Amino acid sequence: LLVLLSACGSQEQQAESNHPKYKLRSDQDAVYVGFALDTLQEQRWYRDKDAFENKVKALGGNVKTLASNGDQEVQLQQVNLLIKEGVDVLVVVPVDAVASGEIVTMAHAAGIKVVSYDRLILNADLDYYVSFDNHKVGQLQAQYIVDKVKSGNIAYVGGSPSDNNAKLIREGSLDVLQPLIDNGSIKLVYDKLTDSWSGDIAAQQIKAYFNQGGERFDGIVTGYDGLARGAIEAIGDQAGAIPVSGQDAELDALQRIMKGTQTMTVYKSLTLIGEQAASLAVEIGSGQTAETTTTIDNGEKKVPAILLEPVAVTKDNMEETVIKDGHYTSEQIHQPA
Ligand code: BGC
Repeated sequence: LLVLLSACGSQEQQAESNHPKYKLRSDQDAVYVGFALDTLQEQRWYRDKDAFENKVKALGGNVKTLASNGDQEVQLQQVNLLIKEGVDVLVVVPVDAVASGEIVTMAHAAGIKVVSYDRLILNADLDYYVSFDNHKVGQLQAQYIVDKVKSGNIAYVGGSPSDNNAKLIREGSLDVLQPLIDNGSIKLVYDKLTDSWSGDIAAQQIKAYFNQGGERFDGIVTGYDGLARGAIEAIGDQAGAIPVSGQDAELDALQRIMKGTQTMTVYKSLTLIGEQAASLAVEIGSGQTAETTTTIDNGEKKVPAILLEPVAVTKDNMEETVIKDGHYTSEQIHQPA
C-alpha cells in the first residue's frame, strides 16, 4: 500500500493542480473507470479484472484497478485515491456490504456514480448492481447435494458474514433444505458462516466441531470452492464418500470434481459479468443512463440491476460448460487435484 500511496502522490498533486474536481485525465474524451476489488487472493477475481479492463479499453475508455485484499479501510483509501484521480465512474466489489455505504457517499459528493459489482452495497443510495442471481447459486448447490443424499445429516458451510452474497446464497440453499428439514428427511447438523470466505477457517471450524463430538455429515453444502477445499480437508479419509458443493469453477475444484472428492461447483462466466459491468460503467461514465433488466432492494432503494444466470457444473457437463467457454482447458482440468 505504501508503494501505491507514494506512486499516486505525484499524480494526486497533478490532479489537484488540474482542477476543478480533480480531473487528472490526459485524454478528457475517454471515460476513466475506477475498479475497486476486494481481493486478488482468489482465482476468480483475476478473471473479472481481465475481462473488465479489456472491455473498458475496447470501448475506448481508461481503467485503473486496485485491490484491498480484504481490508475495508484500505478499500476506502483506494476509492478515495481513485476519486481524486478523477475517475468518471466507480465499480466496486465491496469488502463489507454495510461499511461500503461510505464509498457511495464519498463518490456522490464528487459527482461520481457507483456500480456494485458481484456483491451488493447495502443501505446506500447505490446507482447500479451487476451480479449473478446469487439466490439461484444457493439453490443449485443445495439441490445437487439433496439429490444425492436423500436422507441424513447435512452440513452448511457458508461465506463471509460481511458479504451480502453469503446471505443470499445461504437463503437460496435453505429454500431447498428447509422443506426436507421440516418433513424429517434431513437434519441440518452444522450451519456456520466463514470469515473472509477462507477455506482454512472453514477447515478449522469443522475440525473443532468434530473434536467436540459433532454428528457425522452425509452431505456438505458449501457456498464456494475454497470452502469446499476446507471441508474436504476436514473430513479427511471420508473425502469422496460425502457429496460436497462449491462455487466459482476454480481450477483445483474442477480437478477435485474429476477426481471425485468434490461433487459440483457453480460456474459463473466471469467474462460475461466483467464485460457487462464494463459496458455499463462506460455508458454511465459518459453521462448516459444504462439499461438494466431488474431491480434489487438494498435496504434503502430498489437498485437498477443486471442479474446473470449461474450454471451447475458436474463431471457430466464440464465439457459443454467451462471447457467450451475456455474457462479452463480439458488438459488443465484432468491434471490431478
Ligand atoms: C462471490 C463469489 C466468491 C466469493 C469469495 C462472493 O461474493 O460471489 O464468487 O467466491 O465472494 O470471494
